[in-house]
Amino acid sequence: MRPVVDEEKCIGCGTCEEICPMVFHVDEVLGKSQVIDPEGCELYGCCEAAEENCPVEAITLE
Ligand code: SF4
Repeated sequence: MRPVVDEEKCIGCGTCEEICPMVFHVDEVLGKSQVIDPEGCELYGCCEAAEENCPVEAITLE
């Protein structure tokens, strides 16, 4: 499973990074979340929680 952030939807709230900092990082300049470790979902098991808690449903797991 690989996480994808829809940058059009992302509001840069930082929730995904709080929940799953090994996989998501909010770029301070862009104000958008970026996937820093696409392989990290299985390893860290936190992507589902990040996806469920994104307030604008910008995260999908493929
Ligand atoms: S939780 Fe959603 S809106 Fe917030 S930074 Fe992450 S992807 Fe963006």
